[in-house]
Amino acid sequence: MAESRANHTVSVSGWAAHDSSGKITPYSFKRRQNGVNDVTIKILYCGICHTDLHCAKNEWGITMYPVVPGHEIIGEVTKVGTNVKGFMEGDRVGVGCLAASCLECHHCKTDQENYCQDLQFVYNGIFWDGTITYGGYSQIFVADYRYVVHIPASLPMDAAAPLLCAGITVFSPLKEHDLVATAGKRIGVVGLGGLGHIAVKFGKAFGHHVTVISTSPSKEPEAKQRLGADHFILSSNPKQLQAARRSMDFILDTVSAEHSLLPILELLKVNGTLFLVGAPDKPLQLPAFPLIFGKRSVKGGIIGGIKETQEMLEVCAKYNITSDIELITPDKINEAMERLAKNDVRYRFVIDIANAVTSNNN
Ligand SMILES: [Zn+2]
Ligand SMILES: [Zn+2]
Repeated sequence: MAESRANHTVSVSGWAAHDSSGKITPYSFKRRQNGVNDVTIKILYCGICHTDLHCAKNEWGITMYPVVPGHEIIGEVTKVGTNVKGFMEGDRVGVGCLAASCLECHHCKTDQENYCQDLQFVYNGIFWDGTITYGGYSQIFVADYRYVVHIPASLPMDAAAPLLCAGITVFSPLKEHDLVATAGKRIGVVGLGGLGHIAVKFGKAFGHHVTVISTSPSKEPEAKQRLGADHFILSSNPKQLQAARRSMDFILDTVSAEHSLLPILELLKVNGTLFLVGAPDKPLQLPAFPLIFGKRSVKGGIIGGIKETQEMLEVCAKYNITSDIELITPDKINEAMERLAKNDVRYRFVIDIANAVTSNNN
């Protein structure tokens, strides 16, 4: 499809990375005018996901510069196209990772747009008109309404932003394994970062026994006292691992660094499932023995569909679940990204986009 920026006349101030240094600087660009199926959103908050960091630095080799990252977008609707259903000016809304999909395949028709082959992301993707998408590190967003969700009134907008990627990424596997409606299972969460800490909150809210598995001893008080986890296993401690063998029904692995699956698989009961949502850039070793001797499964998944994302937000409102965040102004994005690279954040940075005007003048 040829690129068509003819109707891209809406001037937007944002923040972009321009090369593999990943350095984010103020960047002015154009978005499309609000089309019949679009809503225009005044962005108030945008979370900083680990993917933003990978993409800004071109660590996966697929970045189209300049890249405006950000796929945990929350704001207020300021314009509504004539075909739009379910949204009005002034609505509190969110946009996650998805900008477009084919709308016609089996996955699109069954509310699993996230598995559409023609899926296009909110940044570093190619929209239907052939243009490269720009994400939420910006003051205005234009979204097709079919990829927009409502933010329940009881959720604070800043702390809700990370739910749009981190939240749905851990909610969807729990739902798929019947761990949202059914309580009393034993689940493990590997890694206690942006994804893991929300997984622990969900696990406890849904009535499960939750064990955090981490390489870092300092995460034990965090996991237990701050987040209410029932148990903690230091993954470098063979005794603790041995004591917990065959104890868990389901384990969610959120770690995106290289790590060994063998000790994690041994923690699963017979028939247990290890679900990967972290994306290490090198392939993980898959040991056959713990699968064969325990009839265990390993699978993975990416975020969730739009309908499921809306459902997740309603569940978060019901249980009062949001992300723990550190709110920053846009002039602190680079600092935040450096700290994120070292996992030095409790547990998600969120950019206060609406506070940008003054900080942009520095
Ligand atoms: Zn993300
Ligand atoms: Zn599709």
